[in-house]
Amino acid sequence: MDFDTLRVYYQRFFPYQDVFLWLNHDRTPQADFLDREIAFTIENAYVRYQSYMNADAFKADVLRLMPTRFEYGPVYSANPRQRKMLPKGACVPVKKEFCLDIDLSDYNSVRTCCTDTAVCNKCWKFATIAIEILNVALREDFGFQNLLWVFSGRRGVHCWVSDAAALTLDEAQRSSIAAYLQVLGTSTQGKLVNLPRPFHPHIARSFGILKSHFKQVVLEEQDPWRSADQAEELLKRLQPADLVARLRSKWGSKEIPSSQRWADIDTETRQLPVSSGSRNSVGDAVLAAKQDIIFEYLYPRLDAAVSRGLNHLLKSPFVVHPSTGKICVALDLKKLDEFDIDAVPRYDAIVKELDATNDITKTSLRDYTEYFRHHVQETLPKKRAADTLDF
Ligand SMILES: [Zn+2]
Repeated sequence: MDFDTLRVYYQRFFPYQDVFLWLNHDRTPQADFLDREIAFTIENAYVRYQSYMNADAFKADVLRLMPTRFEYGPVYSANPRQRKMLPKGACVPVKKEFCLDIDLSDYNSVRTCCTDTAVCNKCWKFATIAIEILNVALREDFGFQNLLWVFSGRRGVHCWVSDAAALTLDEAQRSSIAAYLQVLGTSTQGKLVNLPRPFHPHIARSFGILKSHFKQVVLEEQDPWRSADQAEELLKRLQPADLVARLRSKWGSKEIPSSQRWADIDTETRQLPVSSGSRNSVGDAVLAAKQDIIFEYLYPRLDAAVSRGLNHLLKSPFVVHPSTGKICVALDLKKLDEFDIDAVPRYDAIVKELDATNDITKTSLRDYTEYFRHHVQETLPKKRAADTLDF
């Protein structure tokens, strides 16, 4: 990282005032910001329990410390800077946004385009689908409305839920919501999914969303079962044994597109002799296996530890990711389909843009910061009528 350029970014671009309003949940400073932990990563040090009176004091410390990243933790029952001077138990976490964390490296077993820390627009679609599923579940099933989705800077997304009811959830409640949303098992090998039937309404609704993307995103773009070896991953998720045997002999060692293999499962199921059990029950079992596979390949993979902890810290929106140089931009879900992961603004590129035009309103970060400002304004308490009416 070029710290001179980074300083220009944090001096000119980072939206301190909107971050203040967003964390404070009101226009005048209150405990939600004043007693909020902010933690800085500086070269090799990790500086925790910082807190500020206002956006200007926060900005001054960012420029003084020049952190490689910073994170927000909970609101404490007293100012976290003073915690060592206070009696035990007098400075404890009391409020925090409910957060979700999705990282595409948790999709390594189902994505074929990239490995490890790499990400491209093909596998970014896993994140897009995760957002679609979780956004509707948080809104419809839990009634949350104040949701901010943020690109995490490399290969994932964070969601911050800032409704008053979310802020005061205790750890048990956070864990329950995380468990509700976490449909897949945690094993990275073998069968991750064996959904109970009939589907829970959240599962039924999610299935509708997943099914609408499965053909394009999994069968066509990821094509995970093309080679004979890869096809074994599909076969081991199917029963009965004579169906698996028929498919294996039909396919041999050829490369076959996944969409063809997926269709062959139904063709071969219909051709099973009646003697292999009631054809209806075999058909039902195959259908259920296919549904489970759709969930395994597309349902959101959550890092539940981030959701469960009241004192879990999470990287700020609009910080610069220390490895990629990309800015952790807020995501406007209305434009999510147009989001291009290769076009996310980098701090050094937008500083160059500023040098060229000397106009801060004409850089490629502008749409993201404007969206964030709009989001914050929409979610602040409405001004009381007495404040706006002229008597
Ligand atoms: Zn990829």
